[in-house]
Amino acid sequence: MSDIKRFLKFLELIGYDEVRLPKGELLMVKKEESSLQKELEKLEEEVLNCCKCRLCKTRTNVVFGEGDTTTNLMFIGEAPGEQEDLQGRPFVGRAGQLLTRFLNLYGISRDKIFITNIVKCRPPGNRNPAQDEIKSCYPFLEKQIEIIKPKVILCLGAFAARTILNLPEKTPISRIRGKEQKLGETVVIPTFHPAYLLRNRKGEPEFQKDLELALKLAGFIS
Ligand code: URA
Repeated sequence: MSDIKRFLKFLELIGYDEVRLPKGELLMVKKEESSLQKELEKLEEEVLNCCKCRLCKTRTNVVFGEGDTTTNLMFIGEAPGEQEDLQGRPFVGRAGQLLTRFLNLYGISRDKIFITNIVKCRPPGNRNPAQDEIKSCYPFLEKQIEIIKPKVILCLGAFAARTILNLPEKTPISRIRGKEQKLGETVVIPTFHPAYLLRNRKGEPEFQKDLELALKLAGFIS
């Protein structure tokens, strides 16, 4: 066996998976990362082509979610709004900018977190997603959680919290926010939606407390 083959065999043994040779460079990718990435890419393709509910007829773009796929922390919102629909990215409107500002207070950039929504297409006029729309879309979120396996999920708003934790429809966010719950191995923390904070700034200290708890449990801060 040539030295190169022996070296590649050694890398394979210690968990490397892929060899890419762009412009003659040798690049090895860790098995875990590459297969996780591939699974998510496959899922994204499926979601981008989805037309399981009526929202596919009115959307501009599907908003799959974005961020670090190896992260310990996932943010889950309700559904894309106008800006998100136009740009195909989650939380990029005013509420998203507020969320980013909160993260920046701790020196954390949003690309260190995976951010997504319960429903991947914008409900027209920003109405609440209907139960059948959630039912069609929820398996995609379940699969995202299964692939990324975050230690912590911060649910942004009552809608996300009720859906993830399977709570009764009228459960007020003020009653459940900040309380740690479990979804399998993952800790789930419900908190206010940043769009609510834009209208009710007095909710900010509680939101910050919940965010801090999530960041601590996910190992971002001590
Ligand atoms: N509100 C949400 O719930 N999600 C977004 O992506 C944007 C606003």
